[in-house]
Amino acid sequence: MKSLRELLILGPGPSSSHTIGPHRIAETFLALTPNKEQVKKFEITLYGSLALTGKGHATDAIIEKVFDGYPVEVVFNFTETKLKHPNTMQCRAIYNDGHNFTKRYLSIGGGAIQEEDGIYSPKDIYPFNTFDKMEKYLSSHELSDIYDLIEKFEGPDILNYAKQLLNSSFLTIQSSLTKSGILPGPLKLKAVSQEIYKRASSSKSRTERRILLLTAFSYATAEANARGEMVVTNPTCGSSGVVPALLFYEYKYHHFNINEIAKAYLVGALVCNFIKQNASLSGALLGCQAEIGSASSFGAASISYLYGLTVHQIEYASEVAMEHFLGLTCDPVDGYVQIPCIERNGMAAIHAYTAYLYAKNISPYRKNRVSFDKVIEAMKLTGKELPNDLKETSLGGLAKVIC
Ligand code: SF4
Repeated sequence: MKSLRELLILGPGPSSSHTIGPHRIAETFLALTPNKEQVKKFEITLYGSLALTGKGHATDAIIEKVFDGYPVEVVFNFTETKLKHPNTMQCRAIYNDGHNFTKRYLSIGGGAIQEEDGIYSPKDIYPFNTFDKMEKYLSSHELSDIYDLIEKFEGPDILNYAKQLLNSSFLTIQSSLTKSGILPGPLKLKAVSQEIYKRASSSKSRTERRILLLTAFSYATAEANARGEMVVTNPTCGSSGVVPALLFYEYKYHHFNINEIAKAYLVGALVCNFIKQNASLSGALLGCQAEIGSASSFGAASISYLYGLTVHQIEYASEVAMEHFLGLTCDPVDGYVQIPCIERNGMAAIHAYTAYLYAKNISPYRKNRVSFDKVIEAMKLTGKELPNDLKETSLGGLAKVIC
């Protein structure tokens, strides 16, 4: 399994597969293009979900930014549907003498990219790729702390990497809470995280206060993402509000120090990496369960580790968080990562916290019958059976009924 550095990436929103992925593809292709000064035009063609929701996700704007100073045309191809992956992007440099240099890439989710034929893929660094195998590794090496395992394979510097990303995520929340106004795009959706935060702060009920604060923090990141600001793929842009909200709450109100928070963040990320490895984090491939479901498992595992739950309980929380999002569809209205995405981040943060509570309070009485590895298997199967209209194409569900 690959490094957590491949999972947690800072990049431009609003979508890891539709902006960060294409951004990385464009940069990769530009760097590979020989004799750039003789290029008459760069022609970048978007297929599948990239074409159908590319406008709403600002995919064309991100590509044009990378090719700034070069003649570039972004083409939306709606006719080629037999694709290896729903997020396919062809990059072509057309030279003055008529010949061309062409490559096709896939944006496979969470900002990860690969060439269509031939893998652009970093090395595996973990000798296991499932929760079960990780548990066996822990017991056979007489280890009990998942973070120690992460540090063993990633090196001690991984903690600083996590702290940098958390710092960026927390700054995004704080800065977004100061912003109001209308989010970009035709939906004319009002940013409301600031108002929710004010209401939360004045609430006398502890339960209401916690729920509203988690909501405000989730919305803050999701609104920043909708503005196209830089966000961290936790584990995707569309679901980037969930994990930072949970951890920022603990950091701010329960006074865990940043090292404790960063270790918990990495443990959650490792759990999420099992989903990436064995299914996908792409809404275009498996629906929103792959994004919001994965973020919930990530958050539930992080909070469970932070509060000292056992490895079994961390698995329990991660599983519960995903199980009840199975089948969650991806139907962003008008192709914008706003409805249902922003509200869904808030709901998922509360859901992830509840999964932690279930693991803590129910696991002493009954073993969970569904393992985390099995729920990933079910998620993949369910996602494959979801109709295409409900997988980031904006053709079905809410996108169809809301105009
Ligand atoms: S509905 Fe879910 S998967 Fe689809 S764009 Fe929104 S957050 Fe991402």
